[in-house]
Amino acid sequence: MAESVIVITGASSGIGAATARLMSGLGHPLLLLARRVDRLEQLDLPDTMCRRVDVTDRAAVEQAVHEAEERYGPVEALVNNAGAMLLGRIVDQPVDEWDRMIDLNIKGVLYCTRAVLPGMVARGSGTVINVSSVAGRKTFPNHTAYVATKFAVHALSENLREEVSVKGVRVVTIAPGAVETELLSHTSDEQIKRDYEAWKTSAGGALAPEVVAEAIVYAYRQPPNVTVREIVIAATGQEA
Ligand code: NDP
Repeated sequence: MAESVIVITGASSGIGAATARLMSGLGHPLLLLARRVDRLEQLDLPDTMCRRVDVTDRAAVEQAVHEAEERYGPVEALVNNAGAMLLGRIVDQPVDEWDRMIDLNIKGVLYCTRAVLPGMVARGSGTVINVSSVAGRKTFPNHTAYVATKFAVHALSENLREEVSVKGVRVVTIAPGAVETELLSHTSDEQIKRDYEAWKTSAGGALAPEVVAEAIVYAYRQPPNVTVREIVIAATGQEA
């Protein structure tokens, strides 16, 4: 029997792209969402629908999920991975950077979840995997607005799990430490970026995105009656 369809947001780079490759290798049809659709298509994965979707656009998310379900059948899992980390100090960080992170890291997660959750609840099965961060559990210098969004991801994931676990839907939180991806590149403060790079180096380097993707797949592949509620995973040398 064909494997069921999995939606992965932010699959055009980093953790999302690595997760897409692994899930595709297991035989799953995929719906991949990101703004750089060319990067999704370059992954060149079989049975994969790539859509240029900004996940802060709820109608576009709903439309893409609808299309994928028409083609592949019900969505069995969602990996809410799209996110941005714009580091800065609250005293002088451009306020639009807070807005971008709140819209993407919180509202994007909620919008994508709503697009698949009613079907999962009705069928009594499904898995929502939210990529939060160690910065969703503890604070770091220059991370205030980002940390606020990732604490929100932890909180909404736990509360969602309480809401839907009795319906047979699993909710998993993945909390990585530093991972070597494009994430830092979007921070506008050059000194903060340099300091962060130095911190990663002093920790002996960040995780490879494939390591986090393996953790996501591990949680997903548990039997339906087993929920891995949270995985916290970081480079051994990362002390904070
Ligand atoms: P990347 O920057 O490599 O990937 C981010 C992904 O999100 C890209 O595919 C990007 O695609 C997508 N994205 C950004 N904005 C939008 C949007 N508005 N709509 C749809 N997709 C969007 O970083 P990572 O792989 O590191 O990040 C993945 C997740 O992991 C994030 O939630 C991040 O917070 C989390 N994380 C990362 C850590 C790290 O150190 N790297 C540590 C802990 C957590 P596109 O630009 O094409 O839209």
